[in-house]
Amino acid sequence: MTQPDFVQAAAEATEPSRFGIVASCIVAGAILSAADAQVRNPVLEAIADDAVSAVDLPVSDVLAAAPASFEFVAITIGRNDTLDQLFRGLQLKLSGLAELRSLPDVRKSLDMIRPGDVIQLTHLDGEIKSLTRRIDETATLSVTRPDGVFSASIVENPLETGEHMLHGSIASSLYDAVNLAGGTNRLAVELAHVFQYDIDFVNQAQPGDSFIVAYEQQFQDGEFVRDGDILAAEFVNSGKTYRAVRYVGPNGKADYYTPDGRPVRKAFLRYPVDYARISSGFSSARRHPVLNRVRAHKGIDFAAPTGTPIKAAGAGRITSRGRNGGYGNAVVLAHKNGITTLYGHMSRFAKGQQVGDYVTQGQVIGYVGMTGLASGPHVHYEYRVNGVYKNPARVTVPKADPIPESLMADFKAQTEPLLARLDAPALPAVQVASATPAPTSTHAGR
Ligand SMILES: [Zn+2]
Repeated sequence: MTQPDFVQAAAEATEPSRFGIVASCIVAGAILSAADAQVRNPVLEAIADDAVSAVDLPVSDVLAAAPASFEFVAITIGRNDTLDQLFRGLQLKLSGLAELRSLPDVRKSLDMIRPGDVIQLTHLDGEIKSLTRRIDETATLSVTRPDGVFSASIVENPLETGEHMLHGSIASSLYDAVNLAGGTNRLAVELAHVFQYDIDFVNQAQPGDSFIVAYEQQFQDGEFVRDGDILAAEFVNSGKTYRAVRYVGPNGKADYYTPDGRPVRKAFLRYPVDYARISSGFSSARRHPVLNRVRAHKGIDFAAPTGTPIKAAGAGRITSRGRNGGYGNAVVLAHKNGITTLYGHMSRFAKGQQVGDYVTQGQVIGYVGMTGLASGPHVHYEYRVNGVYKNPARVTVPKADPIPESLMADFKAQTEPLLARLDAPALPAVQVASATPAPTSTHAGR
């Protein structure tokens, strides 16, 4: 279809005192068309109460601000739509749009439209009476026109932060264990991140290993939105206990430390990709799937889907970046102490980097692919010390600096209460002190 479909529900109310009833009549009348409109794209839809709550905008504000006789329209932005086109299509007066744009701060939050965005408005014979649109996750632009003059405000609906605890033990993988305990995949990845320097979750995590984690969760209007940061965690690997706690330094930078203030982080990541499955370990003799003959495989292959970001294992300088024989598209980094790392078979390189550039630990340098001699998408990772291949899973990598003595008191004050949660015998869901506490009922049993 070339023209957007119009499904408009008009609400004609003659008496302001009957407004509440009229509003519910609109809803009843519009339910069918709104359901119908959901599948059209691009769509200009009149919307029922159900559909409105689905896009999470404060429809009550729009309705309350509307005069007695009006049309209520919810516009879902389609690809290549412009506000001018949409206004014309709805036969809304463009002078109203111009007036809206002239309001301080409104122009930017109104014109920055992306496909899928929803703009709700009421109008009377094409004359805009009110308008709302969500600007981002926590802010909504609300425009009213009480006495013929537009007045705009940004309504904030901040996220609330709560805290949650999980504990579980490994039967097969960390993912499964975290899922079984009620956590998300994201939490599993974060947990693996925190302990990646000490524990190889791919090869070393085993049945009987266990974890406890205290982490933040974010809510909005009482609904779970997403997991936040891990605050403190414990992982028992083969009977050995590792603990990590989050500390925010005076510079605002957060990192994880052992309870006695030593950084958990080391100079090199264990994996150059996120906790992916290792397709073949380091060995001195293996059958190469492409060359089909035995040759020393001086590195580790991490199988991951094409396009998975590849991260610099440590801070260093790019010494080579380009086509490199059987390695395909490869990047070589030079680090301190004669260490170099190589990343092969990339599908593409990270934009904006070149030989000679410095990259930080964890910075994306390319993406998984299967260029060169590769039978499937993976990153081939090599770690060399003074030119000699080493197994990156076995080398003792240099540690980062501990918390300076001057910050120790602050460190203890921040982290002791967090670490204490790991010792709580019953592991209840703990409520963290925050400006607007999250309702425990929605997540206490997760
Ligand atoms: Zn390889």
